[in-house]
Amino acid sequence: MRRPIVKYGSRILQRATEPVDAITPEIQTLIDDMIETMYAAPGIGLAAPQVDVALRLFVVDISVGRRPQDLMVFINPEFVAREGMQLEEEGCLSLPGFTATVARPIKATLKGQDRHGVERIVDAEGLLARAFQHEMDHLDGTLFVDRLRGIKRDVIVRRIHKLTRSGEWG
Ligand SMILES: [Zn+2]
Repeated sequence: MRRPIVKYGSRILQRATEPVDAITPEIQTLIDDMIETMYAAPGIGLAAPQVDVALRLFVVDISVGRRPQDLMVFINPEFVAREGMQLEEEGCLSLPGFTATVARPIKATLKGQDRHGVERIVDAEGLLARAFQHEMDHLDGTLFVDRLRGIKRDVIVRRIHKLTRSGEWG
């Protein structure tokens, strides 16, 4: 079942999440719902806080459903390594209509459990490394706008405040 995506301004997006204790049937349902919600959006990643659940869990698929092996679920993920730098345009399903150039490491190695509780390590580069870092940020209560400085950030925040006042946001 698709779940509503929480937008920028909601407090759940700005706080750290709790580890997943056990992969219960409820967690499996949450994962299925998150995958469906991500594909419907469409997006290349979705973190649990974006569907109003404060748990350390995200789904990612940089092929948006075209290559089955690209769909990954990460439960209680942690970075093992990060290196280099990439500057690319980035967006977020919680900030529809907004993008900005964000600096991120170009490589990232992530460790975490899959939906069956199996531990795995994935080495990522480029877009996948960016997606990992974007989703990991969500688990720590950080959005891509929080990584922008000065006027770039102010312009986006001001436009969202305006949309909020006119009832077109949220
Ligand atoms: Zn996002």
